[in-house]
Amino acid sequence: MNSTEFEHIISQTPTIGSEMYQLMVDLYPICRSITGNGVRESLEIISKHIPLEIHEVPTGTKVFDWTIPKEWNIRDAYVISPSGEKIIDFKKLNLHVVNYSIPINKKISLQELKNHLHTRPDNPDVIPYVTSYYEEAWGFCLSYNEYVKLTDGEYHVVIDSSLENGSLTYGEYFLGGKTDEEILLTCYICHPSMCNDNLSGVVLLTMLAKYLSKTQKFYSIRFLFIPETIGAITWLSLNENKLHKIKHGLVATWVGNADTLTYKKTRQGNAEIDKVVLKILKNSNSQYNILDFFPWGSDERQFCSPAFDLPVGSLTRSLYDRANIFPEYHTSADNLELVKKESLNDSFSTYLSIIYALEQNNRKTNTKVSNENKIITNSKKGPFYLNLNPKCEPHLSKRGLYNKFGATKETPEEMIDKFALLWLLNLSDGKHSLSDIANRSGLEIRILKKAANYLLKCGLLKILE
Ligand code: ZN
Repeated sequence: MNSTEFEHIISQTPTIGSEMYQLMVDLYPICRSITGNGVRESLEIISKHIPLEIHEVPTGTKVFDWTIPKEWNIRDAYVISPSGEKIIDFKKLNLHVVNYSIPINKKISLQELKNHLHTRPDNPDVIPYVTSYYEEAWGFCLSYNEYVKLTDGEYHVVIDSSLENGSLTYGEYFLGGKTDEEILLTCYICHPSMCNDNLSGVVLLTMLAKYLSKTQKFYSIRFLFIPETIGAITWLSLNENKLHKIKHGLVATWVGNADTLTYKKTRQGNAEIDKVVLKILKNSNSQYNILDFFPWGSDERQFCSPAFDLPVGSLTRSLYDRANIFPEYHTSADNLELVKKESLNDSFSTYLSIIYALEQNNRKTNTKVSNENKIITNSKKGPFYLNLNPKCEPHLSKRGLYNKFGATKETPEEMIDKFALLWLLNLSDGKHSLSDIANRSGLEIRILKKAANYLLKCGLLKILE
């Protein structure tokens, strides 16, 4: 991309922002999940803007430690109250049904029903987003204000869904450049009706792809529209032979709300992409946040798993570290009003500037950037552990190491334990001792040891002598 091409695209940003917003409006109503027709329908809409290659990976396919699950599809879901009123209705908002619910059609008491209801008492107006991907369960989500109004009696619950052999669907778009070295840009397309998380990322990448396709590029650019976690694992597992070509990468998520831009560095911490993003943010004259890598969040955790350690960071508009997530996260309040056109415009021009800067860098210096991790000085003090499943995260929930329902609130203790597991898995590469992991994560040795014992018992870790 030369400077004229770059300036030309930047000058069109207001129009591109409207295009992004309109695409979000089109995608918003669709009930997506990690598999199923909602994803296909969404990819079809995106295909009107860019020629996506659609991949279908059959149920049962082994992808590292994971297996492609059964395909989920849903037609309708509701609850009828004792007085005959439809009180919870999937057709009004798809967040009302627990994503991946098994089919059900029966009459039950209020007490039994309550075992299957999810609310957010701390935020009583919103409907939470809850999933049950790898546990056959069913449930409904409603606002806490509606929940407390429920009276005793018989309720009729209906979920007209299916969970059958099928496939996992994802979209890919490859833009060839002068070299076959690649910039990887990824987003996830598995969330139902929510906008910042992550239709904002989807529409941003669609428009970047559309406008970059009209330029002459030095790098090749690969765009992925994948279901989060399982999609990234699937893509990595099917494309291991291409990974050495990835020189820079970004996971695009949460790029539409009015918060300040936040960059989460790569696991390497000093990759060229880290330096370029920092420079662009510094020169932007706007506020921004920089976070060191941590092994939770979105798909960067798979791309940055110890066996791959790819230079993939994440540029978002929300500071998310531990429990600090934007307040509307995973609820019905993450809607079309939360996302601002100005924020989408700003995210678009920042991403474009990063790609332009990477291209310019390459023209100027063409020097290889060292991938050596200079952030930490490793101590000699043991013990050292080795992650026996270093390609992507292991499937923790099948070993009972994750809570059953994704995205429900965990207690602070549960969160610390989860973070300890993830840090251990991410840094147990034989180079980091337990005290290095404690230093980098800020977690106490005692907590890390407890987590290490779990992982040893599960056969996911071994001690290096
Ligand atoms: Zn999410």
